[in-house]
Amino acid sequence: MPKLSQWMFACVLMTFASLAFAADKINLLIIDGQHNHAWAKTTEAIKEMMIKTDRFNVEVATLKNKQESEAFKPDFTKYQVVLMNYHGSAFSEETQKAFEKFVQDGGGLAFYHAAVFSFAKWDNWNKMMGLGWRDNKFGDRISIDDAGKIVRTPKGEGPGGSHGPAHEFQVITREKDHPITKGLPEKWSHVKDELYHGQRGPAENMEILAISPSLKEKGGTGTNEPMVWAIPVGKGRVFVSLLGHDVPAISDPNAALILMRGCEWAATGAVTIPVK
Ligand code: ZN
Repeated sequence: MPKLSQWMFACVLMTFASLAFAADKINLLIIDGQHNHAWAKTTEAIKEMMIKTDRFNVEVATLKNKQESEAFKPDFTKYQVVLMNYHGSAFSEETQKAFEKFVQDGGGLAFYHAAVFSFAKWDNWNKMMGLGWRDNKFGDRISIDDAGKIVRTPKGEGPGGSHGPAHEFQVITREKDHPITKGLPEKWSHVKDELYHGQRGPAENMEILAISPSLKEKGGTGTNEPMVWAIPVGKGRVFVSLLGHDVPAISDPNAALILMRGCEWAATGAVTIPVK
């Protein structure tokens, strides 16, 4: 009997120890579904990389259709950051308000690649995202000239959201001291991916962390496009990375690192995941 009770006591201790350890981690909710990308595969790859950092507990909410989107009512207070790998039917007004409150109260919101297509009619969503895949009448466009200066193009002028054929392209670290990009190479060659250009939106309070030269001969715009940015919203933080059309693209070491560190920063305002 003493042996059995000791063993049970040890089990209880171990259970508490693992719960306590898990409680130190960031609770990340990935929302996915409904778009023309291999979202189930990219979510799986992202979930795996996040768990490997030992920084995140990951839950996935998959919304397969309009009914599931309309009924979606997560308890946002369970999470520190929500990562969007979704664009599809609108959420209920109640869920939209709860989502906005979550970020305003200090939560993190991360957008990844095609998630910037989401919810064009939701004004506060567009404000939180800064820029998204919209037509050129939707809002301002932001590009960066070769001197590093931000150029704002008004709505109606210049290209709207698009991309040329997927190809390998360069990414340049623009903000070397931001927690997300600190220690990353000054520039690197990103694997074959879609280089989004002409993104449109309110573009307020954006801190543009990384950019890519969008070459005309590759179907691009001939200027530098924002690739990664951060926006403070209330007490919370928004992070956007346009990189990662498919599993090989989001598995590119620097694109993956930016996504992992971006989610950590959005959750806590700091980054501990190292550049290897
Ligand atoms: Zn894509």
